[in-house]
Amino acid sequence: MLVKRDLKPLAHIYLIEIIKGLAITMKNMLFARNVTIQYPEERRNYSERFRGMHYIKATNGVENCTACMLCPTVCPAECIHIEAGERPDKEKYPVKFEIDVLRCCFCGMCEEACPKDAIKLSTIYEMSQSKRTVFSKDYLLEQRGHK
Ligand code: SF4
Ligand code: SF4
Repeated sequence: MLVKRDLKPLAHIYLIEIIKGLAITMKNMLFARNVTIQYPEERRNYSERFRGMHYIKATNGVENCTACMLCPTVCPAECIHIEAGERPDKEKYPVKFEIDVLRCCFCGMCEEACPKDAIKLSTIYEMSQSKRTVFSKDYLLEQRGHK
């Protein structure tokens, strides 16, 4: 059904609306603060609560993780793979600890579930890789230095 609008004569050619639109564009172009940044020369400071790249904490060079399997259990994306081993002092440790970041949704549940404060999510947001998408234990241990 066609609805006939009661427009004023000038409104038919949209001239005023075009001028109004251009005025808004000019105002934003000349006076508004830029919302974009010149990445990578400029970088944003994200909140401490930002959830980025994972890392594994270590104490005296030994990872805090005891391979309790809580994080792979709670992970909704099932992207954590751990193989547990035993040290001579009978302490469990992760022989293999891998995270498939392509599957990870950065929910932070692994961090919350960890009783040893071993797995953390840092504020690192530059994670693009040309090949590797599965981060190994050594790589995750390395990342703690860049958090
Ligand atoms: S952040 Fe979430 S999805 Fe990613 S590894 Fe941790 S629990 Fe899994
Ligand atoms: S929850 Fe913590 S201690 Fe347990 S396997 Fe995961 S990282 Fe290791």
